[in-house]
Parts: sequence; structure tokens; C-alpha cells
Amino acid sequence: MTLPINHITVVGAGTMGNGIAHVFAQYGYPVVLCDLKPEYVDRALKTIQGNLDRQVKKGSINDEQKQQTLGRIRTSVNLEQACKDADLVVEAATENEEVKKDVFRTLDRSTKPGCILATNTSSISITAIGAVTKRPEKVIGMHFMNPVPVMKLVELIRGLSTSDQTFSAVREVSGKLDKVPVEVNDYPGFVSNRILLPMLNEAMYCVMEGVATPEAIDTVMKLGMNHPMGPLTLADFIGLDVCLSIMEVLHEGLGDSKYRPCPLLKKMVASGHLGRKTGRGFYDYTKQDESKK
Ligand code: NAD
Repeated sequence: MTLPINHITVVGAGTMGNGIAHVFAQYGYPVVLCDLKPEYVDRALKTIQGNLDRQVKKGSINDEQKQQTLGRIRTSVNLEQACKDADLVVEAATENEEVKKDVFRTLDRSTKPGCILATNTSSISITAIGAVTKRPEKVIGMHFMNPVPVMKLVELIRGLSTSDQTFSAVREVSGKLDKVPVEVNDYPGFVSNRILLPMLNEAMYCVMEGVATPEAIDTVMKLGMNHPMGPLTLADFIGLDVCLSIMEVLHEGLGDSKYRPCPLLKKMVASGHLGRKTGRGFYDYTKQDESKK
């Protein structure tokens, strides 16, 4: 049995968690947003407020809708408490298999029996996460894209045991958030990262082999293929450490040498040049003026 979905808990209040909480609250769902420390949830609330202000400025919502959205979000640093009334939990904690398995064991113990447990993981097996619970039929991948309030897609990933009922319930909720859900089976990288990351990795090989400069490669893909952002700009935006870990999942999970991570990517991650978040990746962000950041 699955429950009607009214109450949402979001676990992890980082880049994705704050966006997921924002969207559920904007579309009328009461949300509990949970992280490890009060400063993390406070920072997430500030980010949500800033993003709502931007929506008001653009005219996509009014001030009253902004206040109502904020009014629907509660925060917590106690996972057991945060999830006890939830009908759907969306986990968006750090991309680490042990962290996620630990969170799912706690969720399985602490939520109502009918509660659906979704994960926003980019690359970890939904089947493996479901297997640590006593309700693998209620575990599903709900893979939002960054930035969540802007991007339309949500990949819905069926683990080996995910039931049709769970899938239908999560598909219906996704529609209510004005997202477009796409059904995907549980294989490494799902669809989005299975196709995107090898392209970014190939662009990095082009830099490493001196085929062209990062600027030239990005220009080819923007003007020649009509991509809104070049692959190296996008890799810097995603984070090069994240790109490397997804390539490793593809390489290990699919066992094909075509997914080997580019040695230049490995070298950049080892040197701490992780893209925008560290000020340097394929581009240098420390010298740009604020308006371009
Ligand atoms: P992030 O590092 O910004 O945020 C993760 C948050 O989880 C942190 O605030 C951390 O304190 C918290 N956390 C860790 N362990 C926790 C626990 N036990 N309980 C509660 N909170 C905990 O990471 P992110 O970029 O938001 O990514 C979150 C998830 O979303 C990952 O699985 C990632 O693969 C996936 N994802 C990320 C993107 C992206 O572009 N960043 C896109 C799609 C999916």
C-alpha cells in the first residue's frame, strides 16, 4: 500500500536539497528540510529566499506566493523526527554510498510503513540502496536536475524491486510540481549521466591531446551543435570531482574502456582544481568580475 502524498521530507539541504524543498513548497506541499547542522539548514533557507526573490522580480510568482512557499518549509537536524509524518522522503544527501545506505536504514526504521523513499542520487544504484531497507518496492530514484526550480526534467529510476504503485505515485507527484518525469531503469549513470558525462570526458581528452583550447571546444559545441553551454564550462559548473566520480561509476559498472576517465580530469581533481566552486577548473573564475560569475 502507498499513501496519498501530502507531507514531504527532504534529507540534505545542499545545492539540490534546497531546490527540491523550494519546488515542493512552491506547489503547495508542507516540507521538512533536514540536514546535519543548524547552520546548513539556515544557509539553505537563505538560498531559497534569494531564489524566490529572483522569481518575484521576474514576475513568475508574487510576494504572497513567496511568503506562502517559505511558510510551508520547516527545518530540522533530527532525521528520525523530520521523517515521521512524511508520505514521501526525497534524499539529497552527499553522493556517498555508505552515507546514503545509513540514511535509508534510518528512514526505513522511522517513517510510516506506506511512506515512499526516493533518492536524488546521480550515480549510485537504486537497487543497492533499496536492498538495505525492508521496503525495496517503495524505493525509487527521483533525479532532479540543477537548478531544480528551473529545470523541467525529473528522471524516475526504477530499482529492480520498485513497484508499479510506487512508480505511479511518484510520477503523479512529479507532474504536480510541473516537472516532466521520464521513466528509466537502474543502470550506471541512468540516462542523463550515461550520455552527458562521456561527452564532457571526450571534451577533456580534446584539451589533453591539444586538439583545441577549452574556449574553442566550447565554441564548437555552442555554435555548431546549439548547446546552451559548452562541455568544459558545464563540467566546471557541475564540479570536476563530481564528473570524475560519475565516470568511475560508469567505468566500473559497465566495464567498458570507453568510459575510462580522462587522465587530465584525474590530474585536475588531484590538484584541487574542481571548477567554479574552487575558483579554477578549465577556466579561471578568480579573475572574472562579479557580473560574469
Ligand atoms: P551538497 O554537498 O551540496 O549537499 C549535500 C548535503 O547533504 C550537505 O548539506 C550535507 O551536510 C548533507 N548531508 C550529508 N549527510 C547527511 C545526513 N546523514 N543527513 C542529512 N543531511 C546530510 O550535494 P548536492 O550537490 O546537493 O547533491 C546531493 C545529491 O544530489 C547527491 O546524491 C548528488 O549526486 C545529487 N545530484 C546533484 C546534482 C548537482 O548538480 N549538484 C544534480 C543532480 C543530482
